[in-house]
Amino acid sequence: MNNLKKHTVFVTQSAEETGHMGETFLKDLDRNILTLNGELGAGKTTFVQGLAKGLGILRRISSPTFIIMRTYEVPKSINIPFAKFYHVDLYRMETMHDIEGLGILELMKDPANLFAIEWAEKLENNLPTERIDIHIEYKSENERKIGVTYEN
Ligand code: ADP
Ligand code: MG
Repeated sequence: MNNLKKHTVFVTQSAEETGHMGETFLKDLDRNILTLNGELGAGKTTFVQGLAKGLGILRRISSPTFIIMRTYEVPKSINIPFAKFYHVDLYRMETMHDIEGLGILELMKDPANLFAIEWAEKLENNLPTERIDIHIEYKSENERKIGVTYEN
């Protein structure tokens, strides 16, 4: 059995630092589903903005809370095995039925689709075990504790 959970904790002192963490996160990324958890204002979107920057996505990434899902093309010039980037925010989704209507469960199966999902706990047990969970905790105005967990 090889299902050990790995857990690492980081502390950031500014939004820039959290963004930078998102940006550098891509370097060793070997799976296509990232979940982001933590209260409103924790820094989930800030992390995703850094990630998008690392993907070479130049369009401004805003919180998709009112749109639920935004799709971005990953520029071909960037040497990463992802063709599309999906930024999803399930904050307003109430039932699994609503979420299924988005079609994301099918899209997640394609490893060329990279997903960053805010409030992913709403997917209940529909998440693949092959994913990375990021939990951001508010410590003080500029300080955040960022936990990264994945099953090996
Ligand atoms: P969420 O998506 O979790 O609701 P946002 O990323 O939209 O949160 O907002 C986080 C807010 O906290 C931003 O205004 C950001 O500038 C601020 N902030 C301050 N310090 C940090 C930090 N260390 N990491 C991330 N965001 C921070
Ligand atoms: Mg957000």
